[in-house]
Amino acid sequence: MFNFDYSYLSLPKNFYSLTKPHLNSSSKVLLLNEQICHELNLKIYNKDKLISFLFSKNNCKKSYAQAYAGHQFGYFTNLGDGRAIIIGEHNTGQNKYFDIQLKGSGITKFSRNGDGKATLESMLKEYLISEAMYYLNISSSRSLAVIKTGETILRRLKEDGSILVRSMKSHIRVGTFEYARYFGSQDDLRKITSYSINRLYPQISNCVNPALALLDVVMQKQIDLVVDWMRVGFIHGVMNTDNTSISGESFDYGPCAFINTYNPMTVYSSIDHNGRYAFGNQPKMIKWNILRFAESLLPIIHINEEKAVQLAESVIKKFDEIWKKKYYFMMFRKIGFDTNDIKLFPLIDELLLLMKNLKMDYTTTFSLLSHDNLHKNQIINHTDFINWQKKWTTFFKSKKKIREAKYLMRKNNPLFIPRNHLVDKAIKSAVSGDMGFINKLLVILSKPYEYQDGVEKFMKPPSKNFEESFQTFCGT
Ligand code: AMP
Ligand code: MG
Repeated sequence: MFNFDYSYLSLPKNFYSLTKPHLNSSSKVLLLNEQICHELNLKIYNKDKLISFLFSKNNCKKSYAQAYAGHQFGYFTNLGDGRAIIIGEHNTGQNKYFDIQLKGSGITKFSRNGDGKATLESMLKEYLISEAMYYLNISSSRSLAVIKTGETILRRLKEDGSILVRSMKSHIRVGTFEYARYFGSQDDLRKITSYSINRLYPQISNCVNPALALLDVVMQKQIDLVVDWMRVGFIHGVMNTDNTSISGESFDYGPCAFINTYNPMTVYSSIDHNGRYAFGNQPKMIKWNILRFAESLLPIIHINEEKAVQLAESVIKKFDEIWKKKYYFMMFRKIGFDTNDIKLFPLIDELLLLMKNLKMDYTTTFSLLSHDNLHKNQIINHTDFINWQKKWTTFFKSKKKIREAKYLMRKNNPLFIPRNHLVDKAIKSAVSGDMGFINKLLVILSKPYEYQDGVEKFMKPPSKNFEESFQTFCGT
């Protein structure tokens, strides 16, 4: 079934704590992801097989919780996997490795005052969102299964306990480097750097300055990732440095949400009081996190501190320019332009300003621009928007050009996203025992760019009432 390696255990012992997962005997698999089992070459043919594997005494022999630190909402703390255990690094057979992690499987050395458990609601949400992200073509952790443990756990109220079986190229994060830098030795920092390079970016291992090359590649990966979030209207909600991966995968879908009405200041998370991680702040925050990454790497970028800072700055100073290029290139594709002509940037800015002022739905606006036969009616009957559309259309000189543009747009503008009200409904009904809606939603979200007949209501924004009162919780 799993073809496990434990390369992480070759790191110094302070990077992990060997920990066995806690599994309750009445555990039941509620969701099993057959597509990913196939992709990872896992021979899990049914739900029982997964349970019997996890309960077998010979498995999970060398499972471990990872040590890490992180800046949470700007404040530095020592953290670690308090409710997650990696049971091994699965080799798919083509020398591709994926961490297999059980999230919610009990107390570890890093649990502090927590119970190490996870609620069924939050793990169903993570399953749903991570799968939606994958099909939206966004680099993400994947979910293999949601297990209902049969335990009751205490949060604000009593809730069902759950374990998410998650896979990721690697769970190493910016916070892992901060841990090595501030709680470990220079040797630790060197070891986690070369481990990360060997595991994730072997192509840079022969660079003159591998630490600097790692900073550069992680910065690029994270820019690509956040650009993609902006493309589909995704708000991560808790972009702390411990939730910023070195692999460039999005993960830890806690208080995340998708915007409906376009406004860059949108925040849904109940704990994000100052809007630090608002939709439009995400580029700024990922740069902030990359700066923390750079600081952690300084001692091994160069032995001379001043020189190290200079070298790190030579990478970081490229951030704004790269961001701008990649962001506008993405936005251009959303309106059918295969260009990166800076003279056209104002056309995007104008559109976004209009969408904000006219309180337009982000996903619907781009969907309607991309699909001629979606709705006969206008997107919005406002003169300013009609004028923008006229201006936009003048860029296409022939019917063929328009057809090509719309093809490009349809590949970049999803029709179906996990709208907050749908996610809410799916989770509530699943927790009450009815898996029908969540399974249907998962099927629809697996083809987000294709028009699907008979499910138009899954494209629609929520009611004004829902939108105004909707908040997300960390839901641990
Ligand atoms: P997260 O917000 O899920 O990224 O978690 C932030 C930190 O809190 C990590 O160190 C988690 O391991 C820890 N944590 C979250 N929930 C629990 C819990 N129920 N028990 C122990 N630690 C937890
Ligand atoms: Mg986390």
